[in-house]
Amino acid sequence: MSARIIDGRAVAARVREQVAVEAAELTGRNGRPPGLATILVGDDPASALYVAGKRKACAEVGIADHHCHLGADASHADVAAVIERCNGDPEVSGILLQLPVPEGLNGAELTALVDPAKDVDGLTPVSAGRLSLGMGGLRPCTPVGVIELLDAYAVTIEGAQAVVVGRSNLVGKPVAALLLARNATVTSCHSRTRELAAVCSRADVLVAATGRPEMLGAEYVKPGAAVIDVGQSRTEDGLRGDVDFDAAAQRAGLITPVPGGVGPMTIAMLLRNTLLAARLQSSAS
Ligand code: NAP
Repeated sequence: MSARIIDGRAVAARVREQVAVEAAELTGRNGRPPGLATILVGDDPASALYVAGKRKACAEVGIADHHCHLGADASHADVAAVIERCNGDPEVSGILLQLPVPEGLNGAELTALVDPAKDVDGLTPVSAGRLSLGMGGLRPCTPVGVIELLDAYAVTIEGAQAVVVGRSNLVGKPVAALLLARNATVTSCHSRTRELAAVCSRADVLVAATGRPEMLGAEYVKPGAAVIDVGQSRTEDGLRGDVDFDAAAQRAGLITPVPGGVGPMTIAMLLRNTLLAARLQSSAS
């Protein structure tokens, strides 16, 4: 293997430590801690586990936990009322509606009700629009975690050929927008892209976010490239990324493992976004 492995756990731990220090300072100044409202609707075990992880992480860095759990039979109006209450609550700096919501509810419509100033998931139309227009705002957690990893390993983004495979609103599109904002030359790929391997193999920075386990082999990787694997698929052989790690690591200069790469960054960036939101709200009041 020639690639250096990007240690997402270590980078995420550093971000969390920094958030803890800054959250304590802000708490001292404001007389109250930053607060995150996690809204869980229904009893999906995976969603419950994700929310529990986020709440635990908040407690560890001094962010107050404002959790709200609604039953699977909650109506649009029920969830909307909780979001509106959190929008108006000065103790709540950030709001996270855990997706997916149960069938019958529209996650995108509900997410759009979150006050953009508290949109720590960065998924409201206002936050997406601000990113697209090059305006400041809260950015989606996993995409901004990708940028944080590249920065932590001093990867040159400006002027680089960056290829993002996947164009979801959650990952691919915002990653591409963030790379463009940092002056990379960005190509967005998707399921209709022709000659995907040839396109990817020109990338100095290759970001994979397809959810197709081990789809990207060595031929997709330019020698020396930084390869960031966002994919997380549960397979019979365990958790797998989109990149064939062993093959790609022979050619890449830097590469994220799965697990232990992008995964730990998502919660770390959620904590940082909550701190950022609290800071912006306190300077606005
Ligand atoms: P998604 O909404 O299903 O989007 C997948 C994207 O990949 C789509 O744009 C799709 O293209 C593209 N794609 C699918 N098959 C392809 C192929 N054969 N060639 C090229 N492109 C292809 O998934 P997502 O929500 O973005 O998530 C992607 C992966 O990231 C998943 O494994 C997910 O679990 C993981 N994830 C990880 C984290 C984390 O914390 N590490 C956070 C979020 C997501 P079309 O648009 O043409 O259909």
